[in-house]
Amino acid sequence: MFNNLHEECGVFGVWGVPNAAELTYYALHALQHRGQEGCGIVTVADNGEMRRIKGLGLVTEVFDNDKLATLKGNYAIGHVRYSTTGGGGIENVQPFLFRHGTGDFALAHNGNLVNSDQLRKYLEDRGSLFQSTSDSEILAHLIRKNRLYRNAPRINQIIEALNMLEGAFAFLVMTKNRIYVARDKYGLRPLALGRLGDGYVVSSETCAFSVIGAEYIRDVYPGEVLTIDHHGIRSRKYSEYQRHAMCAMEYIYFSRPDSDIEGVNVHTFRKESGKLLWKESPADADIVIGVPDSSLSAAMGYSEASGIPYEMGLIKNKYTGRTFIQPSQEMRDKGVKMKLSAVRSIVGGKRVVLIDDSIVRGTTSMRIVRMLRDAGAKAVHVRIASPMIKFPCFYGVDISTYNELLCANRTLEQACEYIEADSLAFLSEDSLFKAGQRADLCLACFSGNYPTALYSRIEEANKDGKF
Ligand code: SF4
Repeated sequence: MFNNLHEECGVFGVWGVPNAAELTYYALHALQHRGQEGCGIVTVADNGEMRRIKGLGLVTEVFDNDKLATLKGNYAIGHVRYSTTGGGGIENVQPFLFRHGTGDFALAHNGNLVNSDQLRKYLEDRGSLFQSTSDSEILAHLIRKNRLYRNAPRINQIIEALNMLEGAFAFLVMTKNRIYVARDKYGLRPLALGRLGDGYVVSSETCAFSVIGAEYIRDVYPGEVLTIDHHGIRSRKYSEYQRHAMCAMEYIYFSRPDSDIEGVNVHTFRKESGKLLWKESPADADIVIGVPDSSLSAAMGYSEASGIPYEMGLIKNKYTGRTFIQPSQEMRDKGVKMKLSAVRSIVGGKRVVLIDDSIVRGTTSMRIVRMLRDAGAKAVHVRIASPMIKFPCFYGVDISTYNELLCANRTLEQACEYIEADSLAFLSEDSLFKAGQRADLCLACFSGNYPTALYSRIEEANKDGKF
């Protein structure tokens, strides 16, 4: 898939390591693929003062040496954002910083709550005033609202608040002397724990650990809350209910190939899914090509299993950032391609198997098929390394309505016709489990079996009344 589906943010935290802000900067840069709209870092200085810098744009655009030098201290949390719930705007860029009589705290999260409307109303009815439309602020208000434990340790307020949340999340809460780390009880969003020197780090993906030289310890368990401070790490279960329904899309598309999620390397998963795709849906072809970058591992697997040579038939221009001037209609008519080009000397006269990780709307697949034919491909057989996406996601991925999905209302033959391929096949759900050697995964956008309650979300997604 090429620029069709967007990630759902990345979080990073570091405790007990000098120059925490600088480390967070490098880690956020490694997590940049999870969100390019905005980013921020909060640090705690030795005197307990919290300082935050955040802004719209890439990590390299928001921070420079001078700004980082003002973020002093040995612990920090950071965030990269792609807007899902709450939309764009600086007010929704995290981490959030809350001033409170019982102590300031900062908060960053990844994921989406499915009961945010209900919680927001509950809190507003009790006098809360929201400054943003982000789910993070809901957790902050819940923590503050909990008067029952007003004089008890903050961990009790946090546990009480976490138990009211329903959905997918990885939360970091930083006070002036500790960081709390929590993951949703369904295990939908990834979050890993590592060691760096005498301190600790947590990250949405382990690729950030490699960049800063941290050592992976383990994944944070679903329904677990960790307290990290000068005593070390303490673990508490905030929920007895626990699943390992990791978002399958993390493996299929979102995460970096050098990340490991719950013990399985992302590249290895994708390569294995490519091998299984060949077993399930072989194609008579001369070359295998993948849609860069997320489908290359699956294309390698398909090639290895089939013996059909793997070729670089599509090239992506890596330097088309957010500020790239999109070609005018006149330029497009002249054949100016933006981000992706087919290599005529490789695909010309060949029967091509095109491997893609998934299809959302189908328009990009259609364009790529046409591009390959224009470059002289004799046949284009499309093989998708995941099942048909037929249902919206309510957990932080921007597939929110049924009618934007190619496969929601089409048969396999109709989808093949729409993208103008010679043949089309998708990987089975069973093969996803095999590729990850896993017993549980969230496959809701393929199967419609959502691991959580959905409250009013399903009605919102079904406004057109088609389902
Ligand atoms: S519905 Fe799909 S995209 Fe959303 S969390 Fe589940 S697997 Fe991931």
